Amino acid sequence: AKARDGSKTASSFALGLSHAIKGEVVTRFPPEPSGYLHIGHAKAAMLNQYFAEMYNGKLIIRFDDTNPTKERTEFEETILEDLRLLGIHGDSVTHTSDYFEQLYQLALNLVKVGKAYADDTNSSHAMDIPCECDVKQHGRLSQMAHDRWHGLPSRRRDASIQENLKWFTEMKVGSEEGLKWCLRAKLSIDDPNKALRDPVIYRTNVATHHRTGNKWKIYPTYDFACPMVDSIEGVTHALRTNEYRDRNPQYTWMINATSMRQVHIWDFSRLNFIYTVLSKRKLHWFVDQALVSGWDDPRFPTVRGIRRRGMTVEAIRQFMLSQGPSQAVVSLEWDSIWVLNKKVIDPIAPRFWALSKQDIVPVTVKGATEGYIVRTQPKHKKNLAVGKKDVIYAPSIFVEQGDAASFQDQEEITLMSWGNAIVNSILRSPSGKIISVEVILNLHGDFQMTSKKVTWLAAPTEQYCLAEIALVDFDYLITKKKIEEGDNLQNFVTPLSEFREDAWADANVFDLVKGEIIQFERKGYYIFDGTGRNNRLEFIRIPDGKASSLAR
Ligand code: ATP
Ligand code: MG
Ligand code: MG
Repeated sequence: AKARDGSKTASSFALGLSHAIKGEVVTRFPPEPSGYLHIGHAKAAMLNQYFAEMYNGKLIIRFDDTNPTKERTEFEETILEDLRLLGIHGDSVTHTSDYFEQLYQLALNLVKVGKAYADDTNSSHAMDIPCECDVKQHGRLSQMAHDRWHGLPSRRRDASIQENLKWFTEMKVGSEEGLKWCLRAKLSIDDPNKALRDPVIYRTNVATHHRTGNKWKIYPTYDFACPMVDSIEGVTHALRTNEYRDRNPQYTWMINATSMRQVHIWDFSRLNFIYTVLSKRKLHWFVDQALVSGWDDPRFPTVRGIRRRGMTVEAIRQFMLSQGPSQAVVSLEWDSIWVLNKKVIDPIAPRFWALSKQDIVPVTVKGATEGYIVRTQPKHKKNLAVGKKDVIYAPSIFVEQGDAASFQDQEEITLMSWGNAIVNSILRSPSGKIISVEVILNLHGDFQMTSKKVTWLAAPTEQYCLAEIALVDFDYLITKKKIEEGDNLQNFVTPLSEFREDAWADANVFDLVKGEIIQFERKGYYIFDGTGRNNRLEFIRIPDGKASSLAR
């Protein structure tokens, strides 16, 4: 039941949607307001917008708010903000809860025509579809999951309509007895597709709903609410991750059973990345354990997290559209999206210089103007539109230990944006570390003839200063490529995943605004994250997709 011809979907992406009429296509993105958007949601949202635009149609942002225990208004606000950040503007914002009355009437009608029944079989920790991983995880299935797994009927399955109506009413008022019951669609006991084995369509919950308060004690499940609301709202094409493929016949059944308008389903593959958790429950866990600084932690795969780490919306969009037709459910490498990002930022990121503080070597430059001079230089040699910066030239400068250690006596090197210089003397400590260097400017020298192009900074004096900065880099939050159902996350938390290095940078970085993306030449791309600890300007390293900067 799982296999399906992938080629149809693959080509349908290139050509567009099937059964799509210009001006009439309606798609929807249905986030549950129970957490922040992550990169997987970004894929779903962008594909929905892509098709809506392609057909001059409409995109509905629908908050799927059917579980009051998990949902909050705060999350609706942040989701809308994140969608705006991603350049996604729905034509309308709706809520599943707008339709609670209608959904109730539809379910009631299913009971009345004998297509749904009330059940009090224990289902305390049953998932909607029992699967092998439940068995692994819990060791023991709830009664309902067990029965569905083995294709056994509930003892309530053939209760009279009168009796079902009675229990559904008890559920609706939230009576003590009613709370023990749920409502199930009467599809099949033992269909090979387990998603069709009498799925639950209504549950009780006495928690206060963030929009409807205590009006309702019963809530539709996703399996029921999704097809109903899609149909009610005029959705023509429902984009669903292919993990729901087994549920597609169930979706169609719901629509037929209620005589609602059919909706075309278009499957796409769920996005996963290695060393990354995308489940909201697990992301909540990291936040609750204070293992991250918040939902916008740069190590998080949330829209906020990756944006804070320097991912551009343009790169996300390109990546998602390139993924569009794929049906393969694999865990992707982060490198491929960071490579796209690098292509976006490289031509426009202003360039500055920074030197690691602990690696600094003082250099005396013979032939440099006494005191200092200031010259304007382009912030990006290949893109003058990026603007200009001031560079200070002085007889006393810093270079990095790594560069200094490579110098040979009398070697001709190039001081970037200055000119060539000849290494005149090198002072070494007994351990071989370079203590200081003296060079003699040779401004007529040809920089094409030197093999070392060195970044440098004028050593600070009373007249001019350097910026004290921190370079921050991150590792994956978890040590396992793919967390399996049943894994204890605790055992796979990377012990140390944040790395800081103090550095000096040229004073031009004082003009940066939080969120600006730059390049520290010969170091990499960074995003300015504002002023942090000890008043240092913090710069977060933006991965460039080359072999991870951190050796694993
Ligand atoms: P979780 O299981 O972590 O709670 P969810 O999938 O239930 O997440 P929703 O808010 O219900 O989160 O998701 C909104 C939409 O985003 C759904 O249509 C869902 O298919 C899609 N989506 C969620 N995760 C991914 C993913 N990893 N890749 C692609 N689409 C996704
Ligand atoms: Mg969901
Ligand atoms: Mg999910």
